[in-house]
Amino acid sequence: RAKRDHRGQDLRYAEQMGAEARDRALLLSELRAAIDDARLYLVYQPQRELRTQALVGLEALLRWRTEDGRLIPPDRFIPVAEHSGLIVPLGQWVLATACATMREMLDLGCAPRHMAVNVSVAQLRDPGFFETVRGALAANGLQGHHLELEITESVAVLPTQLLESTLSALRAEGITIAIDDFGTGYSSLSYLERLPLDRIKIDRGFVRQLREAQGARIAETVTQLGRKLGLQVLAEGIEDAATWQALVDMGCHEGQGFYIAAPMERSALLDWLRCPALA
Ligand code: C2E
Ligand code: MG
Ligand code: MG
Ligand code: MG
Repeated sequence: RAKRDHRGQDLRYAEQMGAEARDRALLLSELRAAIDDARLYLVYQPQRELRTQALVGLEALLRWRTEDGRLIPPDRFIPVAEHSGLIVPLGQWVLATACATMREMLDLGCAPRHMAVNVSVAQLRDPGFFETVRGALAANGLQGHHLELEITESVAVLPTQLLESTLSALRAEGITIAIDDFGTGYSSLSYLERLPLDRIKIDRGFVRQLREAQGARIAETVTQLGRKLGLQVLAEGIEDAATWQALVDMGCHEGQGFYIAAPMERSALLDWLRCPALA
């Protein structure tokens, strides 16, 4: 009887696995179709220096709107794109599109310091990545300092040599590197110190809990760590004035969040920046 129960469990498990695999395969084929039909687009979220409120950057974030108008969140489809390798060409499109928007803002005289683009481990592993980035800059007449790349602690799975040489080559072009969602991954502090980085982004999970002692202590500790390592520190997910002020007080340099502005589509962004209209 115990055996039968066990077998039943296995069968249920297999069915469930099958359903998950089917879901993923379905989402992947829908994603491919969405890319072909140009249903993916970018939104841009402003980043400010906290003390002066000066605009410093924009983060490009991917959006997928289905034919019937639903938004599928990147946290759902990015993993599928990563799993299948589709993130490599998709990431190329993101880079090219974000760089084109940066070019447009420069031409209009309303560009911030840089455009920040999220990159996945699979992109960094791709031997063509460096040339892809250089190509996106060159095609839009941009300099390296116009671009920031956001990586996460998950890059720790890459061979250290490959990672260090890739990041160093990018930085030699003037491109800056930010470590995203800091504090949520598994990378060690010695690892962090070795990587050629410019900025730490405090995960919004810690920023959201800033009102509680625990969250505040973590945000403050990450800020001090970043400052000691000579890095810029940016807090994500700032949703109110009190959080902004608390971050200023603890010495955090920059921030991003709904309190400053939600991510916006290109045309709304140009309005928000008060870019002069194109003739
Ligand atoms: P992320 O890079 O950490 O991006 C920040 C996320 O926080 C975004 O979610 C943004 O919309 C959200 N956010 C910003 N301000 C606030 C706030 O004040 N409160 C709250 N609750 N949320 C805020 P989004 O756009 O859903 O993106 C989720 C994640 O998907 C990103 O996290 C990033 O890891 C990934 N992602 C998005 N676009 C791309 C892309 O083009 N390439 C890659 N590889 N990953 C991407
Ligand atoms: Mg990011
Ligand atoms: Mg983040
Ligand atoms: Mg995140």
